[in-house]
Amino acid sequence: MIDALSVQVAFLLFESVFCFLTALLAVSNENHRRRIRLPLTLLNLMGGLLLLSDSLSYIGLGKTDMVDLALTHISNSIVFLLCALMPPVYAVYVVVRTFGDFSLRRHAPARGRIIACMVLSGIAAILVLVSQVTGIYYTIDSGNNYHRGDWFPLSLVFPSICFLLVVSILIQYRHKLGRWQLIALSSYLIFPTVGMVIQAFSIGYSYINMGIGLSAILLFIEWTFSTNNEIRHIARTEVRTGLPNEHGCVEWLNHMHNQPELLKYTAVFFDLVKFSDINRKYGITGGNVILASYGLTLSEHLAKDELLARQYGNQFVAVIRNEHIDSFLSLLSGFPVSFYDKQAGDVREVEVAARAGVFRIDRSDMDGEDIISRAAIALSMAKTKTGAQNIFMTRELLNDLEEKRKFENEIEHGLKNDEFIPFYQPKVDAKTHTLCGAEALARWSHNGGIYPPSSFISLMEENRSICELDLMILRKVCRDLAGWIAEGLTPPTISVNFSRRNLADPEIADRINEIISASGIPHHLIEIEVTETSDEFPIQVLKKFVDALHQFGYLVSIDDFGCASSSLTLLREITFDTLKIDKGFVDKDDSKDQTILEYIVKLAKSLDLQIVAEGIEYEKQVRKLRDLGVMVIQGYFYDKPMPADGLKKRLESPHYEESKRLES
Ligand code: C2E
Ligand code: MG
Ligand code: MG
Repeated sequence: MIDALSVQVAFLLFESVFCFLTALLAVSNENHRRRIRLPLTLLNLMGGLLLLSDSLSYIGLGKTDMVDLALTHISNSIVFLLCALMPPVYAVYVVVRTFGDFSLRRHAPARGRIIACMVLSGIAAILVLVSQVTGIYYTIDSGNNYHRGDWFPLSLVFPSICFLLVVSILIQYRHKLGRWQLIALSSYLIFPTVGMVIQAFSIGYSYINMGIGLSAILLFIEWTFSTNNEIRHIARTEVRTGLPNEHGCVEWLNHMHNQPELLKYTAVFFDLVKFSDINRKYGITGGNVILASYGLTLSEHLAKDELLARQYGNQFVAVIRNEHIDSFLSLLSGFPVSFYDKQAGDVREVEVAARAGVFRIDRSDMDGEDIISRAAIALSMAKTKTGAQNIFMTRELLNDLEEKRKFENEIEHGLKNDEFIPFYQPKVDAKTHTLCGAEALARWSHNGGIYPPSSFISLMEENRSICELDLMILRKVCRDLAGWIAEGLTPPTISVNFSRRNLADPEIADRINEIISASGIPHHLIEIEVTETSDEFPIQVLKKFVDALHQFGYLVSIDDFGCASSSLTLLREITFDTLKIDKGFVDKDDSKDQTILEYIVKLAKSLDLQIVAEGIEYEKQVRKLRDLGVMVIQGYFYDKPMPADGLKKRLESPHYEESKRLES
C-alpha cells in the first residue's frame, strides 16, 4: 500500500539522486569557472546527502533491530549536522554568483555577514554534537521512534539567521544579478523557509528538506542555462574587481546606440590620484585589494541603470545618468575605502580620490568606443592641468584638440624639414655701447611666414620635441659662428636656450659638446641658458648638467632669474656664470620691484656672476640699471631679435649710433 510517508521517502530519494547528479555535472562542467563549480558541487553534494539521510531516517522508524536503530541514529545526526553546515557554503555560492569571485578580503561590505554566517554555523554544528549526548534537539526512544527535544526550535534558529544574513547580501547586490539568477538563489531561502513554517505545525514530514531539494533543482536549471551567460560574463568582466571591463562597458553603451535613451547619460573616465603612494605604502597586492574595494564601494552608489567599469591600472569608466553627475563627481573627489591589510592583518581605511574627464553624450549615433575615448581625452587634459580636477569635454574643446593635433603634426614636419632657425638679439655693453654678446632665439620659418616661440614652444615642451629643437638651433648657431669666423669677423659669445626637458636625457651635455666640437668653434663662444622654473627634475640633475658643461668649457647662464620660488636654492647649489634678470623686475617702477632688483644685483655681484638685464625698452631703464652697475643690456631699446644676416652687419659695425648713447 502506498501511504503518504512512502511517497515522501520516494520524493526525498528522488531529490537526493537529483542533487548527486547535479553535483557530478557541476564538477565536470568545464564551461564554468572552478570558483563557481566548487561551491555549487559542495552545496549539491551536501543537499544530496541531507536528502538521502532524511529519507533513510524514516525507513527504520519503529523497527528495533540493530541495523534500523543505527540507521535512524546516523541518518538523523547527519541531517541535523548538514542543516547546520550548509548555510556558509550557500553564502559562498551567492557571493561567487554575485561578484564573480569569492574573497573575504575583497568583498569588504559582505565580509562581516559571511564571517558571522560561518561562526554561527560552527556553533550550530557543535550544538548538534552536544544534542547527540543530551537530546536537546531530538531523542530516539528504545522503540526507535523520533521525538523532538525541548530545544528543537534552536536547531532551526541558527540556519535561519544564517539564511537571513545571506538574504541581506542578495537584496543589497540584487542589481548585479540577472532575474533568473536572483529567483534561483532566493529559492534556496524561500522554499526551505516555507517548509519550516509548515513543519513547525506538522511533525512527521521533512518539508524543509523537500524545499532544499526543490531549490537545488531550480539552481541546477538556472546554472545550466547560465553557461552561455557565464562565458559572456567572463569576457566582459575584469577579474580583479569583478566589474565590467572596457569591452563590457562598450557593449553596455552600444545597447543604447541610436536610441534617445543614450542622451540621458554622461560618461566619466577617471583615475585614482596618487595611487602610486598607496602602492608604495601597502605594496602592489595591497593596492590591488584597495582598487577592488574602491570599485565595489563606488558601485554601491550607482543606480540600477548606471554602470561602473574598470579600464586598466587605476583607471575606471562610469556611465551615469545626467541628473546624478554632480553627486557622482563629488563622490569621486574622495571617500574612505576600507580594505583588508594583509601586512597588518587588520581591516584599514584609506581615503581615495579621483580625477575625471567628463563627457556628456550629446549624440545618440555615437558608439561606445567613441564615447569612452572622448571622456578619456578629457581625463588626459585634466592630468596636464595642475589644480583643476575634472575636465568637462565639450564639442569646442574637441575641435580645439583636433586643431592642436594638426598643429603638432605641422611642427613635427617643420622639425623634419629643418624649418626652425635662430634669430639673434644683441647684448650691448651700456658703458661702451658696443655689441658684447647675443642670444639665439628660435623662429619657425613656415609657409612663407616667421612664427615666434610663443606659437610653438609650449606645445613642444608638452610633447618633448623641444629637445630636438634646442639641438637644431645650437647646430645652426655653431654653423653661423663658424661662418663668421671664417669671414674674419670676431663674434662674441652667443647664448642658446635649453629647455629643462632636456634633463631627461642623461647624455645631453655630451650631445651639446659633440655638436659644438664638430663645428670647430672655440668653446667660450657658446653659453647655455637654462630657465629656473621646472619642478620636473630634482636640482641635483640640473647641477650635474651645469657641472658637465663647465668641464667642457662652456658658459652657463640662469634665465628669467627671480621668477621661480626656488631661485635662491638654485644659486646656492649650482655655480652659474651669468644671471639674467627677469624682465618683470625692471619693467615696473614699483618700489618693491626696485628693492628686489637692487638685491638681485648685489647678490649676483657678491657671487661673482655676470648680470644681464633683458627686455629693456626705454632709456630710463638703461639709466636705472647702469646706476645699479648692470652693464650688459639686451632689449628692444638696442635691437629686436634679428636674422643671422642682421647680426652679421652688427658684427661688422658693433658700435651703436649716437642716439642710443646715454649722456654720462
Ligand atoms: P627668453 O629666453 O627669456 O628670451 C627673451 C625673450 O624676450 C625673447 O622673446 C625676446 O624677443 C624678448 N625680448 C627681448 N627684448 C625685449 C624687449 O625689449 N621687450 C619685450 N617685450 N620683449 C623682449 P622670444 O624670442 O619670443 O622668446 C620667448 C621665449 O621662448 C624665450 O624667453 C625662451 O624662453 C623661449 N625660447 C626662444 N627660443 C628658444 C629655443 O631655441 N629653445 C628654447 N628651449 N626656448 C626658446
Ligand atoms: Mg633666454
Ligand atoms: Mg629670459
